[in-house]
Amino acid sequence: MTWTARFQQALAEQQRKQAYRRLIARRATQPPYLERNGKRYLNFGGNDYLGLSHDPEIIRAWQQALSCYGIGSGGSPLVSGHTEAHATLEQQLQQWLGYERALLFSSGYSANQAVLLGLLRQDDILLADKLCHASMQEAAALSPALYRRFAHQRYDILAQQLETYADNSVLIASEGVFSMDGDCADIPQLCALSRRYGALLLLDDAHGIGVLGKEGRGSAAAAGEHPDILIITFGKAVGSMGAAVLCNHETAEYLIQFARHLIYSTAIPPAQAVALSTAFQRIREADGLRAKLQQNITRFRAGIRQLGMAERLLPSQTAIQPLICGSNQAALDAAEKLSAQGLYVPAIRPPTVPQGQARLRITLTAAHEAEHIDALLQGLHYAV
Ligand SMILES: *Cc1c(COP(=O)(O)O)cnc(C)c1O
Repeated sequence: MTWTARFQQALAEQQRKQAYRRLIARRATQPPYLERNGKRYLNFGGNDYLGLSHDPEIIRAWQQALSCYGIGSGGSPLVSGHTEAHATLEQQLQQWLGYERALLFSSGYSANQAVLLGLLRQDDILLADKLCHASMQEAAALSPALYRRFAHQRYDILAQQLETYADNSVLIASEGVFSMDGDCADIPQLCALSRRYGALLLLDDAHGIGVLGKEGRGSAAAAGEHPDILIITFGKAVGSMGAAVLCNHETAEYLIQFARHLIYSTAIPPAQAVALSTAFQRIREADGLRAKLQQNITRFRAGIRQLGMAERLLPSQTAIQPLICGSNQAALDAAEKLSAQGLYVPAIRPPTVPQGQARLRITLTAAHEAEHIDALLQGLHYAV
């Protein structure tokens, strides 16, 4: 079979499963709007939880830094790409989050891969929540370590696994806020278990940083805990892109020697690092935005209850509010009906979520006003 025939066959199969995905270019639009195919929508499908992607102060900082640093870093961090702007951002993050060190990565995907592939060796054990992000699952599959998943938030099963592998070096991985369900890990339990068994705990807080905890320090800070390794990403509430790994001195030095995604990949643009420093300053002071987001979440959940749809809503207290539709077709139909009403809500299908649990992944932000939430509720009333 030719390569092209193979691709055609795979594409036809995606169509058949109603799993075909399409890239649609949107126009430049301010949150909470999204414009594409000549139509304007209220956007309930982004992760820009605080609306910081268009924050004037952050934009100004980025523009000013461009004139001295240019548009790129010019190299990988160890060769010539690591600038004072990167170092300043790392110091700011480690101080703010209470870690000895912070290391920057160009994406959360690469940070997760770098850490898991860098740290895990043969005979090590990786125990991860079943709903952990694809970047962790893939690293786990590539790693020589033994990989065992535990059912979502079943810490009793995790405890049994820790008992079984008590003689090995174990790394436990979880998300702080689960990206497709919006629920929060029980971080005190994870920390207690990892301490009891001498395991290393990695927490990916892509969806918690900026929105949860004092000053938006994230899920772990909200729980008063300090996982061994904390991964934060800059593409969600921070409004930009990139990631940081927070850890102790030895882990950071080890990653600098052995983390291939750090060694062999261009550092993020220094002007972006400057903008990110400003973004984190904004985040620390953004209690008003976090309160507004919380009001939107409360209003949305109360509205869904009034519509009698509470049993389809997952038990999430965060900005991610998924509404289960079941079949792929049901999720696609609902998204289509919402779209016709000027509401953009993405239908999320397997393999991103389990079979039979296709859903509308509604995300709320501080850029939404009460009337936008009401428009969404009204739309859902007709569409679902
Ligand atoms: C988005 C996300 C990532 C990937 O981060 P990027 O910076 O987008 O590559 C990793 N983990 C979780 C939990 C995420 O939601």
